[in-house]
Amino acid sequence: MSIELTVIPQSDAIDLASGKLYADACTHCGLCLESCPTYTLWGQEPDSPRGRIVQIEDAIATGGSVSAEMVSHIDSCLGCMACVSACPENVEYDELIMRARVAVRAQRELTVAQRLGRGLRSQTRARSGRVRALLGTRSVPRFAAAQGATRGRVGLLLGCTQRAAYPGIHMATLGVLAAEGYEVIAPTLPECCGALDFHDGDHVQGAARAQATIDAFAAVGGVDHVVVSAGACGAALKRYGRLLNSAQARAFSALVIDVHELLSSEPQRAPLGALSLRVAYHDACQLRHGQGVAEAPRELLRRIPGLRLLELSPEAGACCGGVGTYARTQPQAASSLGNRQAQAIIDTGAQVVVSGDHACLGQLSGALKDLNHPLPAHHPLELLWSSVQAGQA
Ligand code: SF4
Ligand code: SF4
Repeated sequence: MSIELTVIPQSDAIDLASGKLYADACTHCGLCLESCPTYTLWGQEPDSPRGRIVQIEDAIATGGSVSAEMVSHIDSCLGCMACVSACPENVEYDELIMRARVAVRAQRELTVAQRLGRGLRSQTRARSGRVRALLGTRSVPRFAAAQGATRGRVGLLLGCTQRAAYPGIHMATLGVLAAEGYEVIAPTLPECCGALDFHDGDHVQGAARAQATIDAFAAVGGVDHVVVSAGACGAALKRYGRLLNSAQARAFSALVIDVHELLSSEPQRAPLGALSLRVAYHDACQLRHGQGVAEAPRELLRRIPGLRLLELSPEAGACCGGVGTYARTQPQAASSLGNRQAQAIIDTGAQVVVSGDHACLGQLSGALKDLNHPLPAHHPLELLWSSVQAGQA
């Protein structure tokens, strides 16, 4: 089933010149450099947050002209937002990279690379559709009744890739939320929340998908929260208010909550069975830096009896290279980042790796396999659901 998208004109506010306000906040101190995966990979200033900000400043100063060199450094940025977390001046690099991507997209001709970019996003969705046709989404129920006294009524975002390729995460999320007292509605629409479009600087398409998402949840009636279990999708939904700049979008974003945030905010109700496992936790960048959710997933995992939570070394780097379409547009960088993170996981001696974004799970699985160490990769909710089921048994 597909939907007609209402094309929303791109906001005038999303142009490079309006980024001056954000760029001016940067003192060029360099304290963000070591947090940047591409800087730690190549050691080149133009591939650091500060270097990219300087290039954006230059482009603004020259009336918005974007050089070919700048295009390559903007394209190599993961959009992981580790620099936002590291910056003592609270520079909103997310606003800057968003504008830079829109400018890059607007300026360059319809090159092979651009066509490829467009193709990748539609391929991702088409593949999601094919996988969905094979797996069937019938296995993901559209409704789960609250068990025991009701804690609330929530909507669950199914998304595109996650529902197609990782239905087990949705099954686990539905199971845990119901066991914890939430009535869950999982609308079939939208097919995609627009996170991939925003990541690629396509704000027209992204805004249309964002509005379709808002409309789809409005159609299911009142919900206390819109729950998301994918880090990148959650980060996008939380930004709808800023991106669409409407009262309706701001009200919607205020309802959005990551599933770990919601569950960790309440005492555990369902009894948990033991899982005797050594588990390494990989921070999905869009969860940790895009949403500021770092402790909640760890807190939930620590609730599971018998589970030993292992942390990666700090120098492992935040991003695994799986974000958006990066693994296909920047395959060498993504492969290096994936392998670096996979080695850090192996070094912990873990039996399982967990992360709160399916893109990380796919990227890390591939990298672990490449290093001949094919550990299982799961979402934290899958382990929590196993523990709830063990507790019920
Ligand atoms: S973004 Fe922040 S940390 Fe990085 S150079 Fe600018 S002020 Fe310093
Ligand atoms: S978003 Fe990530 S890759 Fe891009 S400059 Fe910031 S830390 Fe570096």
